[in-house]
Amino acid sequence: MRGLTFHGNEDVRVDDVPDPRIERPTDAVVRVTLAGICGSDLHIYHAGAQFGFAPGGRLGHEFIGIVEEVGPEVAGLAPGDEVMASCCVCDGTCTYCAEGLQSSCASWSLFGWAPRVWQHGGAVEGGQSEFVRVPLAASTLHPIPESLRGEARRPTVLPLVDVMSTAWHGLVGAGVQPGDRVVVIGDGAVGLSAVHGAAAKDASAVICLGHHPDRLERATALGATAVVTSRDTEEIRAQVMELTGGEGAHAVIDTISGTASMEAAHACVRAGGAISCLGMDHFMGKTPAINWFDQFLRNIRITGGLVPGPHYFDELLGLVEAGRLDPAPMLTHTLPIDRAAEGYRMMEERREGVVKVAVAPGLAA
Ligand SMILES: [Zn+2]
Repeated sequence: MRGLTFHGNEDVRVDDVPDPRIERPTDAVVRVTLAGICGSDLHIYHAGAQFGFAPGGRLGHEFIGIVEEVGPEVAGLAPGDEVMASCCVCDGTCTYCAEGLQSSCASWSLFGWAPRVWQHGGAVEGGQSEFVRVPLAASTLHPIPESLRGEARRPTVLPLVDVMSTAWHGLVGAGVQPGDRVVVIGDGAVGLSAVHGAAAKDASAVICLGHHPDRLERATALGATAVVTSRDTEEIRAQVMELTGGEGAHAVIDTISGTASMEAAHACVRAGGAISCLGMDHFMGKTPAINWFDQFLRNIRITGGLVPGPHYFDELLGLVEAGRLDPAPMLTHTLPIDRAAEGYRMMEERREGVVKVAVAPGLAA
């Protein structure tokens, strides 16, 4: 089959790779219909070698598809079922899974981040490929409801796998309630998802901070009530205060979580508010400073973390079915699998009009 493989930093290619097969009785093999390229994949693209990514490893932790084959111990799934996959493998039975924190599952692994985070389930290769082996399939895969099946709805369903559920996790962690004022830092796919999610949670103000006019236009279409383009913390503070009646935001969703964005987050958040950190710079060794003085003096909660996707899938699918969410507009480009490496370059160069690129293995080259 064809699969997007890592050859070295800034060198990913689509190669012929072995077809995945059932290796354990709890495995399934999924035929991928649509796989996203995530901002975090770009971290691997840039510095995968330092991260321990071996040449030949396949990328991709956001995918939906059709069950091709199931092992003898996979309950509740059958070939032909349309499914979305959790980014993280989970067993559905441990203490953390029972609490809805599947991203801390006792049997945790992460698709497509070889091999540092392959802790259970063997080689958990990436989903930017024609087929993928899914360990612990009964709990790692989630059936797509009938009303959202089929090719036309895939651009709506795919973002729920990671960017939309990650953003939702940030909003839930920050305790966003109807009527709250929300600031979102970053205009990438997670930022746009946080904007869209905050609007779905009936926030009274949704302010998006970013620097790309085309993306900020999309943010407005997805529910932002205002955008701020300044890079200067004091200017950002002044504008956000003006937009929030002089008080600041109840919640700041920081999709970058670097030192500069955290400084901006503290400038925007009201006393007693929360900052949700969803960025991953720290994964690559760049740890942001946190203003502990401000955190203490103004009772700021710092939250965030790796998304437990399955905890939110039913709720998000329900909101889509009810017409309250549709993240499809953030998926700006869909390429055949053989052009997947080009998709990385399109996102990496932040080309005008590019937010998120997906690969569709069934699409003719
Ligand atoms: Zn578990």
